[in-house]
Amino acid sequence: MISLKTLKELSWFFRAHWKRYTIGIAFLFFIDILMLWPPRLIGETVDAMRNSSLTAQDLTRTVTILLALGVGLYAMRFAWRYLLNGGALILERTLRERLFGHLTRMTPSFYHRKRSGDLMAVATNDIPAIEQTASTGVLTLVDSLFMTLLTLGVMVTAIDWKLTLAALIPMPFLAWSTAYYGRLLHERFYLAQEAFGEMNDHVQQSISGVRVLRAFVQEKEDIEAYRRVSEKTLERNVSVSRIDALFEPTIAIIIGFSFLIGLGYGTYLVFTSAISLGELVAFNLYLGLLIWPMFAFGWLVNVLQRGGASHKRLSELLVEQPDVHEVDHPIAAETPHTVEARHFSFAYPGSDKLALSDITFSLGEGETLGIVGRTGSGKSTLCRALLHQYEMKSQTLFVGGVPIEELSFDTLRQKIAYVPQEHLLFSRTIAENVSFGKPGASEAEVLHAMRLAEMESDLMQFREGLKTMVGEKGVTLSGGQKQRISIARALLLDAGILVLDDSLSAVDARTEEAILRHLRQERANKTTIITAHRLSAVQHAELILVLDEGRIVERGTHAELMQQNGWYAEQYRKQQMEQDVAG
Ligand code: ATP
Ligand code: MG
Repeated sequence: MISLKTLKELSWFFRAHWKRYTIGIAFLFFIDILMLWPPRLIGETVDAMRNSSLTAQDLTRTVTILLALGVGLYAMRFAWRYLLNGGALILERTLRERLFGHLTRMTPSFYHRKRSGDLMAVATNDIPAIEQTASTGVLTLVDSLFMTLLTLGVMVTAIDWKLTLAALIPMPFLAWSTAYYGRLLHERFYLAQEAFGEMNDHVQQSISGVRVLRAFVQEKEDIEAYRRVSEKTLERNVSVSRIDALFEPTIAIIIGFSFLIGLGYGTYLVFTSAISLGELVAFNLYLGLLIWPMFAFGWLVNVLQRGGASHKRLSELLVEQPDVHEVDHPIAAETPHTVEARHFSFAYPGSDKLALSDITFSLGEGETLGIVGRTGSGKSTLCRALLHQYEMKSQTLFVGGVPIEELSFDTLRQKIAYVPQEHLLFSRTIAENVSFGKPGASEAEVLHAMRLAEMESDLMQFREGLKTMVGEKGVTLSGGQKQRISIARALLLDAGILVLDDSLSAVDARTEEAILRHLRQERANKTTIITAHRLSAVQHAELILVLDEGRIVERGTHAELMQQNGWYAEQYRKQQMEQDVAG
């Protein structure tokens, strides 16, 4: 009737913390046994009173025991709460770390498929629901089982089995209704979580895109759209609480019937002298002890169902494998910083259209490759492929003469410093942003990288220099400044191969020239790949490729391409003219 699957799936955790759980559960067990004592004492006192045999000494003894029990139970209840709830908090942290670690290992295509709002919902809603299962769930399961069995045992043996049986008649209804509600709850909770994820996603997108939202005067529409998802979330949560709200009253009615039978039939038994008045009082107190476990069963179903739904969502995420696999036995030897492609073709996962086809080139150590071409021609795709961001099997792309599939992720990342087209700065200081890939870098190194990226003079504008905070809580940087900080970040690594994906698009021609000059001086013997729209950025390259729809349509040095008089030459002349006009 109750699905214990979730608890079973969490057994690795209970086993790892078995001491905590054993002691906690032992306390629960003791408490349950001790709880059975007071009804019996009170019953005996009532009988003694009735027979007028109660002495002051007896009464003092009873009261003392009750007081001592009270204090003992107080201490033990604290102990189990501390142990079991503490354990669940550890579980919560463990799961969070596991999820976060997992998310950092996932590749771009995973984030392409998943909404970040859903991922956030798992971290903020599902993990606490699992925590509840491990705390309240475990406690309730153990406690209510012990309590019920022990209490029933005492009722049957010490008082009257027929009375006990009669009082238990309503109980099957209890089991049935809990199971019924439990199933409904499970379904509805899952839907509610889904709506919550959607709502999260909406908030996240609206906040990160708030500038665009304003620029296009879409605030009203967005608020309206948000109202709709928020309404949906409300409806679904209300439908969960409707079932939740039915639980307790239903159980209360069923328990009420038990008391009715206990009192009616019990009184009859007292009249016929089958049991004493004291025993009837004790019986009712015992029945009272059963109320909590019965409620607890309902609560338990609820918690386990939620925990189950949440655990399912979490597990579904955790079983996702990164779709780029690292080779088991990577080639470890030092290799030169060359890049080569032999008839390399590539399609994005889930797409049957080739984003790159039949790409062939060879770049020696210390050389510069320029990649140009219309927007959408595949320039960024080639850069990403080189970083092994997507699963590939063709073994036609080589770094240092080794197919990149044969290199470990670490080796590849050590060899290649990458400035992506969409640069991202973190809400940290400028220095921390630059030294992101090399956290121990000295200030001098950071400043040097900034100088190479032509960012040093901009730094003067900021009152706190390198310590200036970037983003939400700090200065707002211009597109060109962000771009140059991203370049400095990559230059600091001083890697053998530098990939600049359209990284000079937001700086003026003079700054571009200065950065390129620094690159040529500083990286004279190192390999560089530059993609650009402005051809002046690749003019000096040893090899320039012109891409169109994923194919190389022209290739050569600047001079050769000018001679070919194709797209490159035409584009170059156009850009020259524009520059002359701009003066
Ligand atoms: P731009 O000059 O605008 O930066 P680009 O030359 O860098 O363009 P790419 O970003 O490489 O162009 O895109 C090449 C093609 O691959 C385009 O048709 C694009 O739609 C497609 N593409 C890009 N990224 C993905 C992706 N993650 N999944 C599927 N297709 C993609
Ligand atoms: Mg691009």
